[in-house]
Amino acid sequence: MADSGEHEFGEFGGQYVPEPLLEPLGELAGAFEEIVPTAAFQAEFRAVLEEYAGRPTPLFHAANLGEAYGADIYLKREDLLHGGAHKINNCVGQALLAREAGKERLIAETGAGQHGTATAMAGALFDLDTEIYMGTKDVERQKMNVFRMRLMGAEVNEVTRGGAGLADAVDAALEDFAGNVDDTHYLVGSVVGPDPFPRMVREFQSVIGEEAREQFLDRTDDLPDACAACVGGGSNAMGLFDEFRDDPVAFYGGEGGGEGPDSTSHAAPLSAGSEDVLHGMRTRVIDDDVDVHSVSAGLDYPGVGPEHAMFRAAGRCEYRAITDEEALAAFRDLAELEGIIPALETAHAVALAGQLADEGDHDSILVNLSGRGDKDMQQAAELLSLD
Ligand SMILES: *Cc1c(COP(=O)(O)O)cnc(C)c1O
Repeated sequence: MADSGEHEFGEFGGQYVPEPLLEPLGELAGAFEEIVPTAAFQAEFRAVLEEYAGRPTPLFHAANLGEAYGADIYLKREDLLHGGAHKINNCVGQALLAREAGKERLIAETGAGQHGTATAMAGALFDLDTEIYMGTKDVERQKMNVFRMRLMGAEVNEVTRGGAGLADAVDAALEDFAGNVDDTHYLVGSVVGPDPFPRMVREFQSVIGEEAREQFLDRTDDLPDACAACVGGGSNAMGLFDEFRDDPVAFYGGEGGGEGPDSTSHAAPLSAGSEDVLHGMRTRVIDDDVDVHSVSAGLDYPGVGPEHAMFRAAGRCEYRAITDEEALAAFRDLAELEGIIPALETAHAVALAGQLADEGDHDSILVNLSGRGDKDMQQAAELLSLD
């Protein structure tokens, strides 16, 4: 493993990758810095987000939920985007960058299939060959998403090694990337991995916070007291936080608390983990004796983006483990009170807003509604009995 010494995130981040990957990562960083700021790139990126993905998304004052919870709650409606979640922002950005950098092929890892699906959309839109790495276990559990990806022309490669899950799919994608850097872009799905991925994904997701900040100011003549988001790898949270980082606005992140941060079944490396190197970055990871688990597949990741590890260390953001049970209660609350069914991931952010409202330290809370719950209906129906 080599590390380039690139440490935008204090002691976290970096490039802990096999030596042959350093040059392609350096080239990618160069392309990102040169191409993305240009007026031409920005114009096309914004136009695709508007015409294809459905931006800007609304800011909704959730008065019923706010009344029940006891605070002024606003929801940034990323659930209304094409594909049903914020993931498309990043996939459009990276696919466009790949095309501009002369790449012909996209590869991506996927766990539950949400990122693979969003990558397949962008691959179809920009006419790039698309291959998705997915663990055999996930392929079996997520047949519909595999079908969706194939329907949009992507090839789905089953990964049988190791535990045949998300972490193994990442390893397979990194190996493919190392062997095919000339024509291939590895479209990483969150603010994770070696530099430049964490800052690049943040850049493409920061459109969330840019819009939300302006919408909130327009509506209230003020900034929110707090921002809350769920944290898997951490991209929807960072996309919301980035624009508010220098404002007097408190940040809260809700991790997949599973059966609780003190149990051996959770996905909460910030609330209950330790520092280590994973997937090319120094960050916080869950401990060895813990099984990665969350009721929501999208939060089910053993690590987290390095900037979140830095925010935690610096006290800029408070991270809490939201248990499966708390998330499911919030999932029901938002459905019943507002007629909005959130993704199970997103329900962690809603539950977090409920805790903050209870504690009474913040009058207004801006919640990133990262995705919609349609994909989770079967699972929710099995977990909740409604009579
Ligand atoms: C994938 C996903 C997440 C988790 O990813 P982050 O990178 O932490 O944002 C959260 N919410 C939804 C709806 C997702 O699909």
